[in-house]
Amino acid sequence: MAKRDYYEVLGIDKNTSETEIKKAYRKLARKYHPDVNPENKDAESKFKEINEAYEVLSDPEKKQRYDQFGHAGTDPNGFGGGFGGFSGGTAGDFGGFGDIFDMFFGGAASARNAGPQQGADLRLDLELSFEEAAFGVEKELEIPRTENCATCKGSGAKPGTNPITCSQCQGKGEIRFTQRTALGHFQTVKTCPQCNGSGKVISTPCPDCRGAGKVKRKTKIKFKIPAGVDTGSRIRLSGEGEAGLRGGPSGDLYVFIEVRPHKYFERRGNDLFMEFPITFIQATLGDEIQVPTLQGKAALKISEGTQSHTVLRMKGQGINRLHGGGRGDLYVKVMVVTPTKLTEEQKQRLRDFTSSISKENYYPKGKGKDKGLWDKVWDSLKGMGD
Ligand SMILES: [Zn+2]
Ligand SMILES: [Zn+2]
Repeated sequence: MAKRDYYEVLGIDKNTSETEIKKAYRKLARKYHPDVNPENKDAESKFKEINEAYEVLSDPEKKQRYDQFGHAGTDPNGFGGGFGGFSGGTAGDFGGFGDIFDMFFGGAASARNAGPQQGADLRLDLELSFEEAAFGVEKELEIPRTENCATCKGSGAKPGTNPITCSQCQGKGEIRFTQRTALGHFQTVKTCPQCNGSGKVISTPCPDCRGAGKVKRKTKIKFKIPAGVDTGSRIRLSGEGEAGLRGGPSGDLYVFIEVRPHKYFERRGNDLFMEFPITFIQATLGDEIQVPTLQGKAALKISEGTQSHTVLRMKGQGINRLHGGGRGDLYVKVMVVTPTKLTEEQKQRLRDFTSSISKENYYPKGKGKDKGLWDKVWDSLKGMGD
């Protein structure tokens, strides 16, 4: 194949400045670097071509000879004896090996790991009832995941046979090749394509997994959800994720909890809140009422003269604290309900009752010097001649 013109390779012309040559080269080198295009075989030869062109055109002396004699002027075996190879084993102006990668890839030199690798983590979203979250629950669920093949125990080889050492990498799992560039020599390490980095190839594949060593299956797993979890809680089930690679450990399974709301309890942390209706008679005279709790019901004392919207605390009737330390509380906001549909006789009794007491008996008083809201309203009504 005829050699392409170096100017054409870099997409520049004879009058391009040194800075522009460098720019054009970097752009192309980044684009065609074999590590960026591991699947593209053309990229590798293109990368070499680009480096060769740059090696010559970036050097004023070599450039001049190329301009004068063409490729013959740069061939070591051709006219003029060539240039005696590249600039040696160093990376030239750029310091070390790492700098070249920094230049090409912004520091993201690709590290390849051919050793055992942990399996992927899995996520499971799980919805719980309010009570399940409050008291804890044991769940058994089917998890679809990749597992080691039971027949070959993950090796991929038919039972009774063994994987053999990979011929392409001699069992190293990686292939090194030296890249010659304008900036010097540097080595690139690639995962061996034949064994995918394991160093071994399977001569007789396992019939059940066809040599993959892995199978997709749904597995029932049982796990406990502790009392006190809430929406956003996350439970880690160690080793219940996907099977590892090359003998690596399995990943983890993360259970993300979402708690369904309750009919009437509202949860805030470990405390519960609810509204509960009482009659104005109960509020006025006091009573002991039964209110629902998470586990059933409990007695709650209403004091004489309780106002509507008063919040009463029922200690220890909340949710278990996730990491121990007892339970939260239940807060009951009592709501005084005004009766409707009274008979004429009942209404008359209330009228009689009303005329028997003064306004001062009705309304709550401010404490101490601090007047209550109604005191202030009355004061202003008095000023208007009530
Ligand atoms: Zn198998
Ligand atoms: Zn190999």
